[in-house]
Amino acid sequence: MSVLIYVELDNGSIKKTSLEAVAYGAKVAEKTGGKAVVLALGNAEAAELEKAGRYGATKVLHAADARLEHENSLAYADALAQAATQEGSKIIILSKSGLGDAMAARAAAKLKAGIVSGVTALPETDGGFKVTRAIFTGKAFATTEIKSDIKVLVVRKNAVEIDETGPTDTVAAVEAFQPTLRDSDFTAGVVSVEKADSELSLTEAEIIVSGGRGMKGPEHWQPLIDLARALGAATGCSKPVSDLDWRPHHEHIGQTGIKVAPNLYIACGISGAIQHLAGVNGSKCIVVINKDPEAPFFKAADYGIVGDVFEVLPRLTEAAKNLK
Ligand SMILES: Cc1cc2nc3c(=O)[nH]c(=O)nc-3n(C[C@H](O)[C@H](O)[C@H](O)COP(=O)(O)OP(=O)(O)OC[C@H]3O[C@@H](n4cnc5c(N)ncnc54)[C@H](O)[C@@H]3O)c2cc1C
Repeated sequence: MSVLIYVELDNGSIKKTSLEAVAYGAKVAEKTGGKAVVLALGNAEAAELEKAGRYGATKVLHAADARLEHENSLAYADALAQAATQEGSKIIILSKSGLGDAMAARAAAKLKAGIVSGVTALPETDGGFKVTRAIFTGKAFATTEIKSDIKVLVVRKNAVEIDETGPTDTVAAVEAFQPTLRDSDFTAGVVSVEKADSELSLTEAEIIVSGGRGMKGPEHWQPLIDLARALGAATGCSKPVSDLDWRPHHEHIGQTGIKVAPNLYIACGISGAIQHLAGVNGSKCIVVINKDPEAPFFKAADYGIVGDVFEVLPRLTEAAKNLK
């Protein structure tokens, strides 16, 4: 029996969230007595895919078909289900994202598998198969038992710690995989992709520096950008900020925006309304800078600085530069 892990690619490299899924899958394989097999779809160099071995995978199935170059949840889910059948995989693991959820649901339907999304910990396998998942946008956790023969798990970011440099030098064997692709899966497809000009993706960023209405206007954003640069961080914002066009919409974080889970989230002049917190509560460490000591965000913060962002940000930037 094997555990099959789907990895998302970004310009031919395995995304960090997917490396976490590989590490998670390898631990599940260890627990259930199987091997961790990875599936990669689209363009990638074998040398890049071999790196999955460092995180515990023994083999990588690679479907390099040109039609799989752009994300297509129908075709990808078909390929995932076929790989699972070929490998006799009883457990399938994906990392949580729009694509991960879409593929997981479709592949689960094809394989008549039980599915749990938002998984936060390794499954309990003594007497049944139980997994913990985050519910109510991370405000509570539910334990769910999967009773089907095949099980699909969609793993939340930060569910397992990984050492990005790779814990070992082990290399996974890369094998060509040729799924049968159906024309009907390609009735709608990506024609071209234009990347947003931000340097770092919010969902992948380790550190995010985010601003709210307390930043007063787009012309005052530079101190926040300076801190982000000094820390190698991505920038985000609250909803009103993007509604007012102070910052682009792809930076909007929260219930109706992007959900993030960095190691460090620095909120600058953001009140901490429940809808914003819903997007950041997966963060490992939250630092809040607000001049109002009663701002609700302080209740969710690991560290709080009561002060004016325009005084605090330059001092933090200076301190961050001095650390290098
Ligand atoms: C259905 C729905 C969905 C929503 N979805 C989202 C969402 O996804 N994301 C989201 O962010 N919001 C969302 N909202 C809006 C949310 O309710 C809040 O209105 C919003 O988060 C507030 O943004 P803010 O904190 O930037 O602004 P404000 O509430 O105006 O807060 C500004 C903060 O800055 C502080 N401040 C002011 N000046 C300074 C200074 N010089 N230095 C330091 N601090 C200063 C103030 O003390 C205050 O706490 C949603 C609302 C609804 C109804």
